[in-house]
Amino acid sequence: MPFEIDDTHDPNLESWVESANETDHDFPIQNLPIGRFEELDEDGDPTGDTRAAVAIGDEVVDLTMLWEAGLLEDLPLDLDEDESLDTIDLDLGSRLELRRILSSLLSAGADEEVQDSVRECFITEYTDMAITTPFDIGDYTDFYASVFHATNVGSMFRPDNPLLPNYKHIPIAYHGRASTVVVSGTDVRRPCGQTKADDAPAPSFGPCKLFDYELEVGAFVSPGSELGSRISIEEAEEHLFGICLVNDWSARDMQKWEYQPLGPFLAKSFATTISPWVVTMEALAPFRSPAMTRPAGDPSPLPHLYSRDNETTGGVDLTLEVHLASEQMRQKGLQPALLSRGTFRDMYWTLAQMLTHHTSNGCEMRDGDLIASGTVSGTTRESRGCLLELTWNGDPFADPKVVVPGTDRTPIELPTGEKRVFLADGDEVFIKGYCQRPGYRRIGFGECRGIVLPANE
Ligand code: CA
Repeated sequence: MPFEIDDTHDPNLESWVESANETDHDFPIQNLPIGRFEELDEDGDPTGDTRAAVAIGDEVVDLTMLWEAGLLEDLPLDLDEDESLDTIDLDLGSRLELRRILSSLLSAGADEEVQDSVRECFITEYTDMAITTPFDIGDYTDFYASVFHATNVGSMFRPDNPLLPNYKHIPIAYHGRASTVVVSGTDVRRPCGQTKADDAPAPSFGPCKLFDYELEVGAFVSPGSELGSRISIEEAEEHLFGICLVNDWSARDMQKWEYQPLGPFLAKSFATTISPWVVTMEALAPFRSPAMTRPAGDPSPLPHLYSRDNETTGGVDLTLEVHLASEQMRQKGLQPALLSRGTFRDMYWTLAQMLTHHTSNGCEMRDGDLIASGTVSGTTRESRGCLLELTWNGDPFADPKVVVPGTDRTPIELPTGEKRVFLADGDEVFIKGYCQRPGYRRIGFGECRGIVLPANE
């Protein structure tokens, strides 16, 4: 494994940025996630000029300013004047070096002089900067890697045949829409589209009635690969920059009408929200876990999707939560309600297997491409990563005779007494994630959130 546990993961390490030392802060000095800000013009509109940054506690440090201040001189970089540092260009060795340098600059043991110089590079107070996606995303692919999610959803739509015969052999995915990947905090408009109720004679066009979220994890590719070449399972992790949280907003009624025979299209492509901070593979080193143990009788992965390292450390021990706050809850100052909590440990396919599979036909991957895991669901109701599963397709169009034993169509009740089967306008969905393990400092992922706006009819 290229990512080893070293001094930067020492749980006793503290930062001179006091907020980073608070218990359960998402961004302690052991994390050092990478993000990006965009400069705004006088009217507050984005200019396209971006600045790579690292989060530490409540502060954000501009990496280009650190470079200009001579604090990153050990990095093998050659920046022109006026050129911004772009972390996606760094090779693996430089990324490891960047982490080591940042850990040293931000540690409580750093010289006062160094602390003053770094403080000059804080961009947290700037009002002419807005957080944006961590990289330019050229392509986005969404997998379907939770066997529990796939089985649940399959049970609703094909009760006799929930899991298709290819599922345990091949990581299933579809090509998503990179142009509509938005950063956390961006409002999401309820889409319009074609739907058809089972008993309706013909389809109709209008606002989506069954609007859902999907709790997912995304991985950014870097470095990419050349057209015609493959990334082997042994090399795959070295081609991943890090991971973030993803909400794959889904229009279930549109999806049901359009998904056969070629898979999701307009039911997914209107918006995908990602958290702004990328937790690097380096930072995740203490939180790796074995790939999911396949139940007895399941096929082994084909040789090109198997390696001993992937089997023993290909998983990530990442806890994921979904919270929801309705407009009424926000007006009353109520905390968002927890809807589900699951783990990324129990995915049927690992991120390395997804990337290896993706390039197994010679498909080129580019720096900054995003691959998402698919909805992360577990075996219990509490760990189901979308409303479709939580309320078991409380679909008013569904055939009420098709009820799977052990399922529960009870709507979710919010603290205001409001009930939800799917999302209502004004609802704000929050996805959160964190890694914790005895002997290590907990690291978090920040937030992936968005408010549902009414459809434009
Ligand atoms: Ca999805």
